[in-house]
Amino acid sequence: MGYPVEHSLSPLIHNAAFGATGENLLYLAFPVRPGELSTAVAGLKALGFKGANVTVPHKEKIIKYLDRVEPIAARIGAVNTIVNNGNELVGYNTDGTGFIRSLNEAGFNPSGKNVLILGAGGAARAVAFALVDAKCTKLSIANRTLANAMKLADSLTDKCGLIPEVYSMDEKELHLVLSEADLVINTTSLGMWPKVEDTPLPGGGFKKGQWVYDLVYNPIETKFLKQARERGCYVISGLSMLLYQGAEAFTLWTGQDAPVEVMEKVLYGAVNKKN
Ligand code: NAP
Repeated sequence: MGYPVEHSLSPLIHNAAFGATGENLLYLAFPVRPGELSTAVAGLKALGFKGANVTVPHKEKIIKYLDRVEPIAARIGAVNTIVNNGNELVGYNTDGTGFIRSLNEAGFNPSGKNVLILGAGGAARAVAFALVDAKCTKLSIANRTLANAMKLADSLTDKCGLIPEVYSMDEKELHLVLSEADLVINTTSLGMWPKVEDTPLPGGGFKKGQWVYDLVYNPIETKFLKQARERGCYVISGLSMLLYQGAEAFTLWTGQDAPVEVMEKVLYGAVNKKN
């Protein structure tokens, strides 16, 4: 459920996964207008849906319509997956766990590391809490709207005791923190197709050997990642987070491991075809 939702690649990956595992399930994308969210949620229960994914702009507002929200999603303040267990609708957030799994698969362990997050929206919240749980030692947040970065920093302090540094998106101001970060993550929507020339750091400024992650997954290599790769950084595309958050949701709905290779194949095939 999202609005708009026509562009979503989730039906493709989940239907491939259901087919490969023999689950008698079908995944459909439903455009749900903001004013119709409570009716749509009631419909999930009434019609016996097994579950749902939730995307922009409903991830936060949906919480008040659910029977229960598990602790990780409650702390993030956003739900991207719902499980209908027959009696109640339970909200989960698989963005953070999907993000950490993608980092681990790429070979980066956040424990003890210094991380710079660019952006402070819903995806940044999931990523920031997951990084704190994975024991990163220093977190800096830079955002166009400083007040939003401060809000995220405050909730990390309230809920985890971590005190992040907060910056505007000014590259001169970011110079030092950027050069000291082990991992730099773009969680803004800058660089997403069709505005592929956009990037949160037009000057680059990456350091050789740094890890650089872009949550934007279309195109697979954004300008942000291209500049980092050319500087000699290790780069990770947001497509892997999309894959692993989907794999976690699949497990929540079916109780079995997701066929990740099948999902990965259709996902990369679809994005390569689009580009
Ligand atoms: P969101 O809550 O709307 O947050 C958007 C963020 O981008 C905010 O920090 C916003 O800054 C910043 N921003 C937007 N336009 C900007 C501009 N022109 N210049 C500078 N900053 C700008 O969105 P979200 O849900 O966090 O999603 C953010 C991105 O992550 C999207 O591209 C989404 O597709 C991607 N994402 C990927 C995955 C994945 O699985 N790979 C999962 C979730 C999200 P302000 O606070 O100043 O508005």
